[in-house]
Amino acid sequence: MHQYIDGEYRDGHGETGRRIDPTTGEVAETIRYADPTDVDAAVAAAKRAFPAWSALSPAERADAMLRLATELDRRSGELAALETAQTGKSLRMSTEFDVPGTIDNTAFFAGAARQLQGLAAGEYAGRATSMIRREPIGVVGSISPWNYPLQMAGWKILPAIAAGNTIVLKPSELTPGTSLIFAEAATAAGLPAGVVNIVTGTGQVAGEHLVRHPDVAMTSFTGSTAVGRRIMEMASATAKRVHLELGGKAPFVVFDDADLEAAARGAVGGSIINGGQDCTAATRAYVHHSLFEAFTERVAELMEQVVVGTPTEEATDLGSLITHAHRDKVAGFVDRARAAGARVLTGGEAPNGTLAAGAFYRPTLVVDAAQDSEIVQQEVFGPVLVALPFDTDDDAIALANDTPYGLAASAWTNDLNRSLRASEEIQAGCVWINDHITITSEMPHGGYKASGFGKDMSPYSLEEYTNVKHVLASREPGPGRPWHDTVFRVR
Ligand code: NAD
Repeated sequence: MHQYIDGEYRDGHGETGRRIDPTTGEVAETIRYADPTDVDAAVAAAKRAFPAWSALSPAERADAMLRLATELDRRSGELAALETAQTGKSLRMSTEFDVPGTIDNTAFFAGAARQLQGLAAGEYAGRATSMIRREPIGVVGSISPWNYPLQMAGWKILPAIAAGNTIVLKPSELTPGTSLIFAEAATAAGLPAGVVNIVTGTGQVAGEHLVRHPDVAMTSFTGSTAVGRRIMEMASATAKRVHLELGGKAPFVVFDDADLEAAARGAVGGSIINGGQDCTAATRAYVHHSLFEAFTERVAELMEQVVVGTPTEEATDLGSLITHAHRDKVAGFVDRARAAGARVLTGGEAPNGTLAAGAFYRPTLVVDAAQDSEIVQQEVFGPVLVALPFDTDDDAIALANDTPYGLAASAWTNDLNRSLRASEEIQAGCVWINDHITITSEMPHGGYKASGFGKDMSPYSLEEYTNVKHVLASREPGPGRPWHDTVFRVR
């Protein structure tokens, strides 16, 4: 059963889909998708649960969420194995990154629930006290992608419920398993039925119905920019709040004073992470021309050392991509770039032999692509890095900003002024200096430009899931209030 509604597993009433094992191409399970009636049931459950959950004290909500962190920790082995089975990512990634990251997020938001921030109460308009209330919004409808199924479920669910909302999450129909366990763990931890609901279904049926639903007060979406635009349009009919975490095309800028070895290693790790299916992955390396040859040689050498293999094997660095169709899409970008005159220094192909049946693709380094070519401008979402040389710092910053996206970026330099300039002038929600990818529960993640708006993680994301209310209480009612006198003079 792939629906989790009102504290229990249920069957969906929509079409039946199949989940394919990306490492073999074989059917792993069949899934009965949610239809609109299932979404209605989940929203109704969330609506019923809202008054009691939102009325709990922050400490009580925090207590339940700390128990959830413990429950997730208890099931961490099972969660990691399932995350790898449904995505094809290496078990090492699931075990050392996805699962502990989600447990840490859960513990963080349990604490954050008790730390709502705002302006100080005070007397700003005569003898009247103004104060701010931050209130939960109601039922949140969230939609998440397949690349980090468990972490994305956590990024959506945790700040929403910490702030006192209830939630219906639609995970990607390719990867619902760990989101369902998350909801089951919430019930086991004592969160009341209906606070966390999961509907597994397609974007067109379950997703669109959830976004349009009149009882859903906010839509929080992580996925592609194209679908994000459609979500915004649909949400406008009910004027609900939207929070959009969209695509990325992160630049990786290597200045001439950079530590070359650190930058080369950072570029490999930053571009192949999660098979490159990471919205913040390093995709465009802009390298000062004096270092370009040495950098690309070293990156190619390191990429050739990456072990592509069966995800569950300890030695495997890079598992499979999410589906065969997605692997073919990634390969298509590289093939078209090659046909247009770019050179592939390493990779650019799927491995043969025992891996041939899976959706595997080798780490790939492309040079001599034009800045305005599709492989530089569009999201490839695979283990593919394009390297381009630059001459001046001005050029580097301009090139880094020259795509529609603005999610993340990195600058590699030991020069203080350069690093400050890059952090100021690169238009992205995160700029790493001499690092790439590192995220932390305490700090926000979110985009500029076509990468969307709104923040995940950190206290900023808690704010996204609250309404701000101003309350003013006057101690001088009646004729003495100056503005009353302006409107209607008492004679
Ligand atoms: P996607 O946009 O195809 O799908 C994301 C989710 O939206 C899925 O659950 C899907 O079923 C649903 N969906 C699809 N069409 C819909 C519709 N018409 N109405 C409602 N829901 C719909 O993205 P994907 O391929 O699953 O994920 C990859 C994308 O996600 C990449 O673009 C990546 O950059 C982005 N992403 C962004 C972040 C971030 O934090 N900014 C994080 C992870 C992934």
